[in-house]
Amino acid sequence: MSTYSFDTQSELNENVLSRFYVNGRWVLPGTSETVTLIAPSTGQPFVRVPLADAGDVDRAVDAARKAFDTGPWPRMSGGERAAYLRRMSVALASRMTILSRIWTAQVGAPIGFADMFVPTATAMFDYYAELASTFAFEETRPTRAGEARIIRQPVGVTALIAPWNAQLPILGYKLGAALAAGCTVVIKAPPETPFDALVVAECAHEAGLPPGVLNVITADAERGAHLVAKREVDKVSFTGSTSTGKAIAKACADRMARVTLELGGKSAAIVLDDAELSPTLAALAPVTMPFSGQICFAQTRILVPRIREREFVDAYSAVIGSLKVGDPWDVTTQVGPLASRRQLDRVLGYIESGRNEGARMTTGGGRHPHFDAGFYVEPTVFACVTPDMTIAREEIFGPVVSILAYDDIDHAVALANNTDFGLSGTVFSGDVERGYATARRIRTGNVSVNGLEMSPNVPFGGFKQSGIGREGGPEGLNAFLEDQAVYLPVSSPRPAQE
Ligand code: NAD
Repeated sequence: MSTYSFDTQSELNENVLSRFYVNGRWVLPGTSETVTLIAPSTGQPFVRVPLADAGDVDRAVDAARKAFDTGPWPRMSGGERAAYLRRMSVALASRMTILSRIWTAQVGAPIGFADMFVPTATAMFDYYAELASTFAFEETRPTRAGEARIIRQPVGVTALIAPWNAQLPILGYKLGAALAAGCTVVIKAPPETPFDALVVAECAHEAGLPPGVLNVITADAERGAHLVAKREVDKVSFTGSTSTGKAIAKACADRMARVTLELGGKSAAIVLDDAELSPTLAALAPVTMPFSGQICFAQTRILVPRIREREFVDAYSAVIGSLKVGDPWDVTTQVGPLASRRQLDRVLGYIESGRNEGARMTTGGGRHPHFDAGFYVEPTVFACVTPDMTIAREEIFGPVVSILAYDDIDHAVALANNTDFGLSGTVFSGDVERGYATARRIRTGNVSVNGLEMSPNVPFGGFKQSGIGREGGPEGLNAFLEDQAVYLPVSSPRPAQE
């Protein structure tokens, strides 16, 4: 079985392998500090990449500050910026294959999964290009003495920080909106997935983005904290764990820097008593543990009516038990390895806790017996889970799903809402309006009926400890804007809208 088929030297160019992108140029890092990437399917090292020191962070921020304060980017019209975004989208579209391959190589996402989700990034750039060219960046309202012009100013220098699990799609949301708004950007790529953001920098360079508008470095948590604390950074847009999100919010609060936080989830799928079993399973099972459950919107708690519990548990466990676990480079693989040893240990710990706290394991339950190398865990289902159990409360971020039984709809809604998180959710019903009525009662940022959908023009984000603010849609653009009101004493001709 081939478990390694990514040749970094021939597939990636020297810039992406060994440099950062700062002020429109590929620059050598300031230190010789490196991190070694481990292939999740073998557990073997496959490449060393540079890590930024504080000086690299400072240079990237200085470039973004200068580009914002004196460069053309924030002063262009939305339509002018849209042209750059469209060119970036074209450049990204021409690199879809390598971007998928990078995803699989770095964190073991099954190649079929990566192929499906990589185009999200171009979709976001296309959406924000369209929005930038039509958005009212300036508007006039009458006042008692004359008029006020409301100007949606770019918020300034922004730091974009995203986790290892889905670098590229998440950057698509953040960067598309930040650039459309007229902000300048420093992306801090995580040490586990350095390549995606650097390939995006190649696209920006190809699109002719002015120097300093986009800067990309790879850095660890300590240098990430240094970036977030810098007074030249006006806004931080962060996706990652709730604990890191809280630390970042505190650092930003010190100087009132703007912050958007997309954090963890423990999303519930409510199966109503009228839901037909087979279409429900077909739509639900794939979103309960996509990319081995390492996706924030995974539907990890399934709530089923007690009278149908046995039927559902047996059928769902059979589906999960039959998923094809295998080499992430094989297009037929449905479940690949976890991304890292840290992830492996974390997930095995949660499986152990489910067992110890009295849940009934119906399939899976440990390291996968067919693989003696790599970070493979069996897709695992627990039934008879109660809301107080650790596996029902904490985000596992692995292929582990809990099934809880409910007595009536009020009980189902109470169970769904009995969590510190509020990111995603689903409701399955034979009656879409009944599904909608239930969905509205769930305290969560996104809910889908009879499936799970996300769309570039629709806001995504969390209630409660799943975050603050939204990405996607006009809401995602607003997150990178500040409203400025200028009062004028007399009415004057309305300015042409940008
Ligand atoms: P993490 O919080 O450990 O790290 C995320 C990023 O933050 C990394 O780039 C890391 O280097 C950086 N970082 C860590 N500490 C920092 C600090 N003090 N200051 C600045 N940067 C810092 O998260 P993770 O474990 O890599 O990712 C998994 C988490 O991400 C899960 O909780 C998952 O739910 C969440 N996530 C959320 C969404 C969403 O849209 N809500 C999407 C994907 C993942």
